[in-house]
Amino acid sequence: MSLKLPDIKPFKGWKFSLVYILILIVGISLFNYLFMNKAQPTVDFSDFKRRIELGEIKRVEISDSYFTGFTTIRRELPPTLRFPSSSAESTTYRTVAINDPKILELMDQKGVAYYAVSREGNALLNILFSWVLPIVFFFVIWRFLMKRMGNMGGGILSAGQNKAVIIAEGDISTRFSDVAGVDEAKEELVEVVDFLKNPQKYTDIGGKIPKGVLLVGPPGTGKTLLARAVAGEAHVAFFRMSGADFVEMFVGVGAARVRDLFKQARTKAPCIIFIDELDAIGKSRINGIGGGNDEREQTLNQLLVEMDGFDSTKGLIILAATNRPDVLDTALLRPGRFDRQVLVDRPDVKGREAILKIHAKTVKLDSVDLSAIARMTSGFVGADLANIVNESAILAVRSGRQVVIQKDFEEAIEKTIAGLQKKSRILSDKERSIVAYHETGHALVAALTPGADPVQKVSIIPRGFGLGYTITLPVEDHYHITEQDLLTKVKVLLGGRAAEELTFGNMSTGAANDITRATDIVWKIITEYGMSARFKNVTLSSRRVSILGDQDQTTRFNREYSESTQQYIDEEIARIMDQQYAYVKELLSNNGDLLIAVAEELLKKETLGEQEFKDLLFSNNSHSFKKDN
Ligand code: ADP
Ligand code: MG
Ligand code: ZN
Repeated sequence: MSLKLPDIKPFKGWKFSLVYILILIVGISLFNYLFMNKAQPTVDFSDFKRRIELGEIKRVEISDSYFTGFTTIRRELPPTLRFPSSSAESTTYRTVAINDPKILELMDQKGVAYYAVSREGNALLNILFSWVLPIVFFFVIWRFLMKRMGNMGGGILSAGQNKAVIIAEGDISTRFSDVAGVDEAKEELVEVVDFLKNPQKYTDIGGKIPKGVLLVGPPGTGKTLLARAVAGEAHVAFFRMSGADFVEMFVGVGAARVRDLFKQARTKAPCIIFIDELDAIGKSRINGIGGGNDEREQTLNQLLVEMDGFDSTKGLIILAATNRPDVLDTALLRPGRFDRQVLVDRPDVKGREAILKIHAKTVKLDSVDLSAIARMTSGFVGADLANIVNESAILAVRSGRQVVIQKDFEEAIEKTIAGLQKKSRILSDKERSIVAYHETGHALVAALTPGADPVQKVSIIPRGFGLGYTITLPVEDHYHITEQDLLTKVKVLLGGRAAEELTFGNMSTGAANDITRATDIVWKIITEYGMSARFKNVTLSSRRVSILGDQDQTTRFNREYSESTQQYIDEEIARIMDQQYAYVKELLSNNGDLLIAVAEELLKKETLGEQEFKDLLFSNNSHSFKKDN
């Protein structure tokens, strides 16, 4: 839940009365225009002339478009200021003017008094258009500009106040218990809370307190919630600003705000500064789209300066959140800045159940199986789940029930899935099982091939652009890698596709990235490391020519070998790949039971940790599991 404090609008009352005045003025002028000029009906010109001849009309007012005849001689007010009723005692005839010189002669003959009035039929309207409206107009513009300057926090003129409002100690009621499904992130942040509570404990030993912690994860996974929980647990003040708040129209405003924020925070230490959506200001300065954005750059620089400048022993910690860590400027991630990154990932089945429990606490349930619901909501983030609980409560009310039942939840999930599928976050069952077998393939090949890095985690929860992932971690750092090691990597990469082919009989594009990476390794084996039969110990690799200098990603390869060599390389790559793929397929089909067992378990649990994975291997197929780790 993001608490957005309303902007303070200093002259709200003013603005309102101005609007009313404007409406009034326009109304009056419309009234004038409609009713004052056209109130009198016109008569035919011939009729008008006849009435002059008959002597009925004694006086004529000539304007550009009308002749107005009166039956009395007396002129009361200047006609332009007269209300229709004021000429009530005299009958008035009006006709549309015709340029007939004879009419003047006629009037002279009959002794009719006549005079002309200029066009501006209505003085009120005139004054309005030539004076009042422009003044009002300029006043409104002036007010608008002043307001903008005010919003800048007085930017140019004064140091300015900040939009961030200090929430005093104890005001934050969020606790870690309100957050679930992100246990690893929570563990790391517990430590931050401890820093904030007893900074001395750490500084006495000479330890360094982290300055900045960056929460990284997809939208809706609870990053903002976690930041609030840290402040709540530590009972410290909490300054929250969104990256977008810093980016203003005027250059320098963002930087002033950053300066101000830190100034305020220093007086309140120990406290937390939380910058939500850091990517709005922290985008890499190099490849900013649309050239350099001066304002953002200045803001970012100011942030870097402030982060370098403050003393973390005072208990000031900066938390930031982003879902685009890839676009962040590297300067932000350097030591002394956001040197700690905490991954806030999509929850797995157990996590989702825990989140559902938190949000269902305030809702009356009737025999609802939350763990079943957790199983139905693969790929959902915390915000989606909170939404589902809410939605099902609404559905229950709509059908006139006092309690929420399982059906409400199912309906709410269906609704949400439809929305999420458009954002391609939810996989169909078929796709899920393809992903599960694919990832199991990687993991099994890694586990069953001697020398491969042990499997840390297998998951079918989408992350980044991938639909699932398998993490293998080397036990120790490798400094020289043997040909065997490289081929093992290739095997693990091919494991995904091989498992798909064995299980479903065909291949999917999901493995495209694996294939690219495997091919790249084999290509290097032949051309760069000189490990091929024909070109033993010869580097065939070409010089890399960068077109645009260091920042250029699209390096061009200048081939420095003949056509026949190229052909040999291509054939050799294909041969090695074939060989490795055949090996992997053989390995997996020999362990078909294991493949099925692990994949099905993965479908159930979505994530398998190192131990869970190992346990599965041993319990299912210990005889063919020859690996020593
Ligand atoms: P983010 O900042 O990562 O986009 P938020 O923290 O704003 O996500 O989450 C929005 C809402 O979704 C929270 O207020 C909370 O109600 C719910 N929510 C999200 N993640 C969790 C979680 N891990 N545990 C409990 N509730 C969550
Ligand atoms: Mg957020
Ligand atoms: Zn893969």
